[in-house]
Amino acid sequence: MSRYDLHCHSTHSDGLLTPDAVVRRAALRGVEVLALTDHDDTSGLVEAQHAAIDVGIELVPGAELSVSWESHTIHVVALRIDAANATLDAGLASIRSGRDARARRIGEALADAGIPGAYEGAFKYVTSERLISRTHFARHLVDAGYVKDTRDCFKRYLTPGKPGYVKHVWATLPQAVDWIHAAGGQAVVAHPGRYRVSPTGMRRLLGEFCDAGGDGIEVLSSSHTPPQFAEYATYARVFGLLGSTGSDYHGPGESWLDLGDLPELPVGVTPVWSRW
Ligand code: AMP
Ligand code: MN
Ligand code: MN
Ligand code: MN
Repeated sequence: MSRYDLHCHSTHSDGLLTPDAVVRRAALRGVEVLALTDHDDTSGLVEAQHAAIDVGIELVPGAELSVSWESHTIHVVALRIDAANATLDAGLASIRSGRDARARRIGEALADAGIPGAYEGAFKYVTSERLISRTHFARHLVDAGYVKDTRDCFKRYLTPGKPGYVKHVWATLPQAVDWIHAAGGQAVVAHPGRYRVSPTGMRRLLGEFCDAGGDGIEVLSSSHTPPQFAEYATYARVFGLLGSTGSDYHGPGESWLDLGDLPELPVGVTPVWSRW
């Protein structure tokens, strides 16, 4: 168990629990410092902050920004942002603005693959009118019986090369870092072990992230195996990046790990919170 959990989601993006419920669950599980990092949106932070005061834990205002880098989608976690910052707010709005058209295209692609009505179906699972994601499609396809679980759904339909995947252009890496910095926050590469890049590609990504002024990297993540904890601890040291930790919790029954379910950061990694 870790006192820190700096990556999780609520109903303001593709999580299953409200911000209030996420914070209360984190507190019950022994988390003392929690960052709520909804995809491309900060609208859940006010509710989360109220709950955090109520239960006596520290709420770190955050978000998870969608970025296009080379042919990949990369996620950048923002920590300790001023959510009222106009530059960040406009940046997040610009990232979100393409999501609905993308979702309609996903619906059309799935229809071509023999699954009609998926956009309307996915929409029934959307919990914030500001944000529709692939997760909502996955939940619909599971409940409609097309796939056995969300993992299976991503593997068969929603990832690059599969019938329901559509290409989309998000923010650039320097834009994301600049917006986060404009809001006084730290920029952290989320779950680096998830990207399908070669070791050379990872060095190029982290090099460009550092050149853009990026601050940290998730060393501990539910997307990483224990050998990857060590691997990304080394990347953190080599690139002079701060280390972060986060469960990426999305809700009961849908996540590998629960809130706070990660070990301490490996020795030799400077934690992101050392600068707080
Ligand atoms: P989007 O931002 O619409 O592209 O959706 C990305 C979200 O889909 C991620 O934040 C995860 O919650 C979810 N996701 C991506 N890949 C998988 C996977 N292989 N299994 C389950 N969920 C996934
Ligand atoms: Mn998600
Ligand atoms: Mn992510
Ligand atoms: Mn996430």
